[in-house]
Amino acid sequence: MNSRRPCIGGNWKMNTRLEDALLLARSVAEGVDTIDDCVDVVVYPPFPWITHVADVLSGSRVALGAQDVSSHGDGAYTGQISAGMLLDSGCTKVLVGHSERRHGLGESNSLLNEKALAALESGLEVMLCIGETLEERDSGRTNEVVATQVAECLSGVEAGSMARMTIAYEPVWAIGTGRTAEPGDAQEVHAGIRTQLADLYDAPIAAGMRILYGGSMKPGNAGELLEQADIDGGLIGGASLDSDEFLSIINATMTQGSAD
Ligand code: PEP
Repeated sequence: MNSRRPCIGGNWKMNTRLEDALLLARSVAEGVDTIDDCVDVVVYPPFPWITHVADVLSGSRVALGAQDVSSHGDGAYTGQISAGMLLDSGCTKVLVGHSERRHGLGESNSLLNEKALAALESGLEVMLCIGETLEERDSGRTNEVVATQVAECLSGVEAGSMARMTIAYEPVWAIGTGRTAEPGDAQEVHAGIRTQLADLYDAPIAAGMRILYGGSMKPGNAGELLEQADIDGGLIGGASLDSDEFLSIINATMTQGSAD
């Protein structure tokens, strides 16, 4: 069993109306209260619901995150949201580089690096999402693509900030498709990321880094993914919108000890 505390995140994307969001947040908070305190849980609601969800989660063990952050501080950036605003709204965490922003909105590694630096600078914890497309996987470029994303997105991130960084490996072809990476294939990529972190930083930082898997993780496949030595939790999209499914994935971390 390794010493990394597992983490399960729920990315609600552009889903839920206010009433659904509040109900979902309440059910998750109540459910997590009944689970042993040996897993971190975070939800990433849509921006307009963040302060409302913050009220519901107040006093619970469920942390609050945002799905994106501006690379800029406050100023003339119409439609963007600064890290400081997220903190004022009750967020302690933020996603950077989700594939729906990389591939849907064309966000580059260099922009994501600026976002990560801005978020860390303000005190937020960052979940950096990386992952290859199907075409990149089929052409045997998974490791190269992932390594480039890690190196470029972490450029200038100091060792002292790495305790506030989590990485989510999310193969793009597995997100929202019902297709999941084979646990052994995902493990190989996770282990490669950890080795790269040891090269970029040092062995203790690499050993302490939580690397989550994301891509159609569900109650039915969570166990076999979470039992992999270098998979330290999950970033969940679709299944996080159903509190029973989400709680069942959180529960799966209790029974899976990764072997180091
Ligand atoms: C995600 O959006 O990060 C994700 C993993 O989605 P899904 O679980 O629906 O594949």
